[in-house]
Amino acid sequence: MEAPQSRLSYSAIARYAEQIASENDVFDERGNVDVYELLRKLGGEIEIDDRAESLDVRENGDFTVFLPTHTSRLRDRFTIAHELGHYFLHFRAPDQNLIGERTSTFTRLGRNIPETQANVFASNLLMPAAQFKTTFCRLEQDLVSVAEHFEVSYPAAKVRAEFLGLPT
Ligand SMILES: [Zn+2]
Repeated sequence: MEAPQSRLSYSAIARYAEQIASENDVFDERGNVDVYELLRKLGGEIEIDDRAESLDVRENGDFTVFLPTHTSRLRDRFTIAHELGHYFLHFRAPDQNLIGERTSTFTRLGRNIPETQANVFASNLLMPAAQFKTTFCRLEQDLVSVAEHFEVSYPAAKVRAEFLGLPT
């Protein structure tokens, strides 16, 4: 079955991700979002499993993110942010913001609109535009250091910089 899509624009998804981070006040000492803390506050659990990275929602405030056994901490961080994107955009969303049937199970199935929307949510949660631009300048456009600062992979930081029109 096709996953539902959000009607929100990418910039609305960006604002939504930043709003969720600040409402839940889950910033670490560097100012980054602690996705484990956010997940816990929202009623989520993590299971390490051999299945694909996925999200299973039982109801509002009760869900599990499945992480595979063999990944890195940075990838897990992005995956959790991505699955939270599905939770907010494709499960908890009010009817008028949804296209398609509401579902409660999400597995990464290649590239499609819901996956892109969850990635947009994740990159804005982990690398908010304003902070990203400031840090990019402060660290003299060194993407390795920028990725370290935001605790994301180098490719994730590079995609973010390109999206924001920064020189890479
Ligand atoms: Zn997904």
